[in-house]
Amino acid sequence: MDSKVTRDHLDCLRQSGLKNTRQRKAILDILSIGEQPYAAEDVYLALKQQHVDINLSTVYRSLETMCDKGVVRKVSVSGDNRMLYEMNVHSHQHYLVCVNCKKICPVGHCPLEAFEKAVARETQYTIMGHRLDIYGLCPDCQKESGK
Ligand SMILES: [Zn+2]
Ligand SMILES: [Zn+2]
Repeated sequence: MDSKVTRDHLDCLRQSGLKNTRQRKAILDILSIGEQPYAAEDVYLALKQQHVDINLSTVYRSLETMCDKGVVRKVSVSGDNRMLYEMNVHSHQHYLVCVNCKKICPVGHCPLEAFEKAVARETQYTIMGHRLDIYGLCPDCQKESGK
């Protein structure tokens, strides 16, 4: 395990005023492994695999608490009606969603920052964010459909 990542978690928890409970730490470990956001059920299943003693409602409650504290944030991706969670450490992220298998991939680059500034200038709004999901068929699904 990358020790830097672990330290970041603890910093996040400490700054948020939450106690570093083992369960919360374990949840953050899961969230930070993958680049894609996780549903509460996915986090729960991953914890089970690691033999962490926790139930789904505790996972859900912890995720909600950490959302309130800004450690974790919610992401909703159209086409997936579950609420997904991710670490709130990076700047915002955009996702590429496969419409067939629902696989979600982060897209590293945000093309909208200059656009936001222009909109802010024109409208005098304080811009707080935007949403952009990109849809398509992943390479695996293209192969499937080509059969
Ligand atoms: Zn796919
Ligand atoms: Zn963006």
